[in-house]
Amino acid sequence: VGTSMQATGASGATKKKMTGYVGFSNYPNQEHRRSIKRGFSFTLMVAGESGLGKSTLINTLFESKVYPGKDDNAAAAAAAALGVVVGSEGAKTVEITSVSAEIVENNVKLRLSVVDTPGFGDSINNDQAWKPILENIESRFDAYLAQENRVNRSKIVDNRVNALLYFIKPTGHGLRAIDIEFMKNLHNKVNLIPVVAKADTMTPREVEQFKGKILADINFHGIQIFKPVSDQFDDPETIADNKAIAGKIPFAVVGSERLVERSDGTRVRGRQYPWGIIEVENEAHNDFVSLRQMLLRTHMEELRDATDVSLYETYRTQKLLALGHVQDNTVFREFNPRQQLEEEERVHAAKMQKLEAEMAAVFKQKVQEKEGKLRQSEDELYSRHKDMKGVLERQRGELEDKKRRLGISDAGMPVPAVGVQQHDGAQPAVQSKD
Ligand code: GDP
Repeated sequence: VGTSMQATGASGATKKKMTGYVGFSNYPNQEHRRSIKRGFSFTLMVAGESGLGKSTLINTLFESKVYPGKDDNAAAAAAAALGVVVGSEGAKTVEITSVSAEIVENNVKLRLSVVDTPGFGDSINNDQAWKPILENIESRFDAYLAQENRVNRSKIVDNRVNALLYFIKPTGHGLRAIDIEFMKNLHNKVNLIPVVAKADTMTPREVEQFKGKILADINFHGIQIFKPVSDQFDDPETIADNKAIAGKIPFAVVGSERLVERSDGTRVRGRQYPWGIIEVENEAHNDFVSLRQMLLRTHMEELRDATDVSLYETYRTQKLLALGHVQDNTVFREFNPRQQLEEEERVHAAKMQKLEAEMAAVFKQKVQEKEGKLRQSEDELYSRHKDMKGVLERQRGELEDKKRRLGISDAGMPVPAVGVQQHDGAQPAVQSKD
């Protein structure tokens, strides 16, 4: 099928109307088919101090012993049997460990990596506890960037963190300094999903009030959290669902790896109390279902997109700009030593030209100053010459007068004596010398 473009605009701007099939419209389907064949990969990070139920919630979310727990040897053995890999990525105060597992559901494979951050918030001084976690997220971006810059990009391994579940201690008093510090330092690098841990330790009223305080703190500190916004093409039902999910943030969750018996005899995942049971998957009891819905069912793709298009792109741009690369929206100019040399030469030549122009201007100014001075002294000389001439003429006149009075003619002959009438009728000049 052909593609044609038709230019129809009357003035300056040209409208292009497509009348054929290009193929890009089928891109989402292609991508979807390929993803289903190859499987999806998703990296989820969890953070929050020890004992808040992080590993329990992960295992509850994936309905399997994804996370073996820290000292749980039996669980580790079970995980090994399931093909789960546990690795440690650094021995700082806050340790970063990762667990990966392959989950298959309806023939669709999900390669899941869970990154835990044990030790966060467990010290007496928790200043900078967020730092190793930020470094880990950035190092994953760096690893991706390095692969993107390779000639062969066909086998890119994507270990970028797609979402971070941040566990907030159920204190009832809003965010603590450690929570604010953590979120403020990480919100630009990861899709932040705050959760209220162990929600069953509070009454529903306390949970609501606590959520309000948390959201107020998040707003006050300008912290950006992931929000499940609706697409303009979504149907009203989906829009309403997304709104309902967004309204539950921060999700107040309850995790449990145990089955408990309800009064009707059925067994469900939950926590047993002397007064009754809390069911994990009961929306009236807690927000676990909404969290799972957003994370694994409706917004997994959005989380992956936001990681790639927004968070990673921003990181990459900043990183490359810091390295001196110039970006023009789509294309990066790769580092080229020859180009760099030419650029430096051009800058040097421009500098020299500027210097020469400045020197010429200074020279011209100096010449003008000198010329002005010369003209001034010439004028002075001239006026002095004129004065001198005047003086000399006056003296000559006086001398001539004297000569006349003494009766000396120009030929040296005495002139007639005083009192003799002069023929021209002029009075003899009487000059007194002072
Ligand atoms: P982690 O250190 O954050 O990974 O926490 P764990 O998942 O190891 O859980 C610590 C303890 O809290 C365990 O005894 C869990 O059974 C318990 N726990 C986990 N989730 C919940 C929950 O939602 N509510 C309550 N009350 N306890 C929980």
